[in-house]
Amino acid sequence: MIKLHNTLHKKVESLKLVEENHLRLYSCGPTVYSYAHIGNFRTFLTADLLYRTALALGWKVTYVSNITDVGHLTEDDVADAAGEDKMAKALKSKEGESFANVWDLARFYTEVFHADWSAMNMLEPTVRPRATEHIRGQIQAVEKLIATGYAYETEDAVYFHVPSFEGYGKLSGNQNADDLAEGVRDVVRDSNKKDPRDFALWKKDDKHLMQWHSPFGWGFPGWHLECSVMAQEYLGETIDVHAGGEDLIFPHHECEIAQSEALNEKPFSNYWMHTRFLLVEGEKMSKSKNNFLRLKDLIAPEEEGGKNIDPMVLRYALISGQYGKNLNFTFDNLKASAKIVGRYEDILTQLNKQNPQPETNTADWVSEKLEANYQSVLAALCNDLNTPEALAKSLEGLKLIGSQLEKMTQSQLDNAKKWFENIANLLGFIKLNKNTETPKNLQQQEAEVLAQQLDIARAAKDFTSADALRSQIQALGYEVKTTKDGTTIKALR
Ligand code: AMP
Ligand code: ZN
Repeated sequence: MIKLHNTLHKKVESLKLVEENHLRLYSCGPTVYSYAHIGNFRTFLTADLLYRTALALGWKVTYVSNITDVGHLTEDDVADAAGEDKMAKALKSKEGESFANVWDLARFYTEVFHADWSAMNMLEPTVRPRATEHIRGQIQAVEKLIATGYAYETEDAVYFHVPSFEGYGKLSGNQNADDLAEGVRDVVRDSNKKDPRDFALWKKDDKHLMQWHSPFGWGFPGWHLECSVMAQEYLGETIDVHAGGEDLIFPHHECEIAQSEALNEKPFSNYWMHTRFLLVEGEKMSKSKNNFLRLKDLIAPEEEGGKNIDPMVLRYALISGQYGKNLNFTFDNLKASAKIVGRYEDILTQLNKQNPQPETNTADWVSEKLEANYQSVLAALCNDLNTPEALAKSLEGLKLIGSQLEKMTQSQLDNAKKWFENIANLLGFIKLNKNTETPKNLQQQEAEVLAQQLDIARAAKDFTSADALRSQIQALGYEVKTTKDGTTIKALR
């Protein structure tokens, strides 16, 4: 039902799931050393749209999106990751002065990230694991890779030995050892590395601000390892879709494949979905060009130094381009998006106030057209998340409602409201009831996600988290029953 462009095969393919009607999705999350920018959110929105599309098809979805709070180095864009840990560097910067330590800094930016995430009306993932909470699993993975001959230890680090894994390069096409050596020449600091392409699984460093004890000495895991380990823990050895921005294809995702497939001798992810970069006014975002747009600076009120942009308008602008092509973000586009989102709001307000006309016996073509229209919006998303087409179709549905509103009978008004609810759930830029914020069936989805998390916590015998999750579900207005077959929830009102 869903077609996606698979970077692994460089073509659009029909999504065949490992388990029927159950999508297992992993999307690489942020490195929490600073505020997230709107480019990051373009990529996270791609995963959100896939999640929403799968839910609309009635699938079960297990969606994991992590928090990288250790190990992402400043020179991680080359195979031989080097440089400083981004977290440690941020602590030493001007902004870092307000934090007590690196853990405090990570906590702060993680919380801001959560707030940005909900401002963008993105659905909560089933699990949001942190790299620092999965160190044991990462150490065990390194031990296994050494034992099976895929990794080796030097005085400085433990490396994955690239020539030991035949499939290295299958995602990015980067296979040529000479080219790679050229790229990393400046940053290879360990003369005991066997091959320039070898990448770190564990860096030994007893001075690092975040360090753990391991059989290979004090130190911290390499960035790539966390995603392999956390994906396997929550989604199994072979997952359906792995998502991220285009810069992650190499080396991050290439290295994840090598590690996971060496560990399990099974395909790691069947589909790889990469979002092309967001440009701002035609240029790459960069701090020096002053076009580095953080989410919070756009949506914060003017008195707090922000631009007071409605997050729903921003969401509309960020999903207006198909994820597989670069999107040029401009303030003109933002204005156009504001007009459209405003039109949805106006018609919804009128719809909620509209008095019905008497029912007639003639065929209800309006309701039929609205249902067909929703199906065409869903079909556009199923077609490699073709958001421009989905938004255009949706606008046709909105126009139909606008033109027929005053002639609608009660059942037509109900169907028009249902259409709004469906579109709001699918595209996420309409708040159905501005007072209650979360529409009823999104609350249901949230309760279901929490119930899945409760099952995971119970299976791990983490009863403190399980109790907290139970209370959260009850606070949403649901009765919770836990049985040996899993958790069931029932709406109380
Ligand atoms: P980071 O916090 O740097 O690990 O990035 C989080 C996510 O945002 C990754 O999937 C990146 O690939 C993605 N990303 C970074 N910059 C952009 C951009 N300009 N446009 C789209 N995605 C981006
Ligand atoms: Zn990752």
